[in-house]
Amino acid sequence: MEIGIYRSNGASRSQLERVQLTKESAIAGFSLAAKSDYEPGDLILRVGGLQTTRNYRTIQTGIATHVQNDLLSYLNHSCCPNTIVNTEAMAIEASARIRAGDELTFFYPSTEWELARPFICRCRAPQCIHLVAGAKYVPIDTLGRYFINSHIRELALAALVKVAA
Ligand SMILES: [Zn+2]
Repeated sequence: MEIGIYRSNGASRSQLERVQLTKESAIAGFSLAAKSDYEPGDLILRVGGLQTTRNYRTIQTGIATHVQNDLLSYLNHSCCPNTIVNTEAMAIEASARIRAGDELTFFYPSTEWELARPFICRCRAPQCIHLVAGAKYVPIDTLGRYFINSHIRELALAALVKVAA
């Protein structure tokens, strides 16, 4: 089901040719679904955003920077995600084979150090981390299995140095 709120929410026509907002998520209320097929590495969307302070709809793009983007805020978390959010390129890229209609997901700790609203994951992946509260709360060897943005690597390293000191 498509709903008609996004045009006024600032999503561009070209973005909406590539993804659609759907209410048939297996994971949460609303989600983004692919409108066409993608192979790993394919660019799905380039995304901008309004710089703001951290809230449950923002994406962390640096050590202390957060952006809010109305499409990105509907991209749900999965512990077995099919996209990555690359905050250097400000792009959503396929990390698995995606078929039109598939729900798009990414691993929230790959961008978020601490979530404004932690939650219990119900993705049912065997490797599910269960509590999604940000990279700060994920063991380093678990983080190592995922694509992780450079600001999260930096923050994780800083936390390790602090523990070791
Ligand atoms: Zn999970």
